[in-house]
Amino acid sequence: MTRTADIMIVNARIFTGNPDRPWAEVVAVRGNRIVHVGTMSDVEQWRGENTKVIDGKGGTLTPGFIDSHFHLLSGAVWLGTAGLQDAKNLDDLNTALSTFAEENKTSEWVLGRGIKYNIVSTRQELDLIVSDKPVYVGSYDGHTAWVNTKALQMAGILDGGEAPGNGVIVRDAQGTSTGELREAAMDLVQDLIPEPDANRKRELLKMAIRRINATGVTSVHNMNGDMEELMYYAALEDAGEMTLRIYTPYSVRPETKEEDLKEAMAMANVQGEYVRGGAVKFFMDGVWESYTALTIEHYTDNAQAKPDGIYSAEHFTRMATACDKLGLQIFVHCCGDGAVRRVLDGYESIQKINGKRDSRHRVERIEIIHPDDLPRFRGLDVIASMQTSHAPFSIDDGDVWPVRVGEKRWPRSFAWRDIKNAGAMLVLGSDWTVAPYDPLFNIYVAMNREKWSPTDPDQRLTLEECIIGYTRDAAYAEFKEDEKGQIREGYLADMVLFSHDLFALEPQNIRSAKPVLTMVDGIIAYEA
Ligand SMILES: [Zn+2]
Repeated sequence: MTRTADIMIVNARIFTGNPDRPWAEVVAVRGNRIVHVGTMSDVEQWRGENTKVIDGKGGTLTPGFIDSHFHLLSGAVWLGTAGLQDAKNLDDLNTALSTFAEENKTSEWVLGRGIKYNIVSTRQELDLIVSDKPVYVGSYDGHTAWVNTKALQMAGILDGGEAPGNGVIVRDAQGTSTGELREAAMDLVQDLIPEPDANRKRELLKMAIRRINATGVTSVHNMNGDMEELMYYAALEDAGEMTLRIYTPYSVRPETKEEDLKEAMAMANVQGEYVRGGAVKFFMDGVWESYTALTIEHYTDNAQAKPDGIYSAEHFTRMATACDKLGLQIFVHCCGDGAVRRVLDGYESIQKINGKRDSRHRVERIEIIHPDDLPRFRGLDVIASMQTSHAPFSIDDGDVWPVRVGEKRWPRSFAWRDIKNAGAMLVLGSDWTVAPYDPLFNIYVAMNREKWSPTDPDQRLTLEECIIGYTRDAAYAEFKEDEKGQIREGYLADMVLFSHDLFALEPQNIRSAKPVLTMVDGIIAYEA
């Protein structure tokens, strides 16, 4: 038998990500692997009777996108609630929630997701929309929620009750809840919302994965999880219905004990083609918007807000050292510069206690960094995992973020360029559902973001840097650089073909290209 290809993509502008051979025109796939990367002159040797030949029509072909910061299962469940991303005022909110209530008559709750700040602020505003059922509306960043009076009554926190951990129940002068819940206080209501059953979850998950594949994403680094969540994904893999590779950590919480890490180790033993464990995720702080980010200097618009980190330096170092000793990779959410510093200090301590190993620990978000901490990523071999569309695109957006942070810190905000220039490995992701998962959207922001002040440094990235951060380096950030993230012989056949030559487009027009084909494991998971 001659060795011919199952699928060949020809006549494409192939950005391989392979430093030894950055560009090619033809790729041949056999089974789930790339067997040949070459030029139009060597097409024929791979063409067999049953070879499917796809004409790339001069569009860019890249390795499949690996989103390094994702919330898949919770995102899929959210897709079953009212989307409020586009709501601009209370009227829009009214329309969206009323429509949801109408279409989901059997649902005991009215649920909305993704709303921006400063659109709804009180329970009374929600009562006017729906008062006979409990209403829960989550902010786009997942750190604040607004609920109606009925929901507050059900949770027993209308007058009284206490918020756990870093949570805040916002109250008026009389001590009555206003309807705004921050951080862990959201759980008091969220815990009452019935979860969709396993069948519904599975259907929502499949729907989410189809949509995600359609944007060229073939792998995600999930940011929260436990064995139960891992098993939802594994069940889809076992049924042959999975088309997304998912790396899922075990979520460490402040109350987690060292013996609980057994579950993380059990997850690390799951190493499927698609679904695997091997990491742990911590939250060091919250977000700037709700004054829960851990900062080095105070908030510009509220000097009284002095949140502490979710872990003390000692507590973090103790737990992270235990995780490192077990060979687990560590991801830590850090929005404030104080959080970034505390976690880097912790990573430095781990290396002293356990010795240096190829650990590839990561810091997630990094919305602000103190200049003294820039070289520490490279020095400690820590990976920076950033989500470009968290940055307010323009100062004219009216976002509260630049106000909280203050002009003095703008130059160190979302400092992708500075972090990369300091020699750090920078990997990119979306943080869906906080931001859209579409890589071209996030790349658009990375390439086009405006300076908020003329004196701010330019933090924009090039297209090539964006693609590498979404492919080759993202594969490294999950210990899979020998398997994926490049179009290279022997690598997994995860690729995305675009309608245009991305490199010929002006940065501001990058989104006029669309994926026309997404291949995962040698299978065409999406075709336009
Ligand atoms: Zn996140």
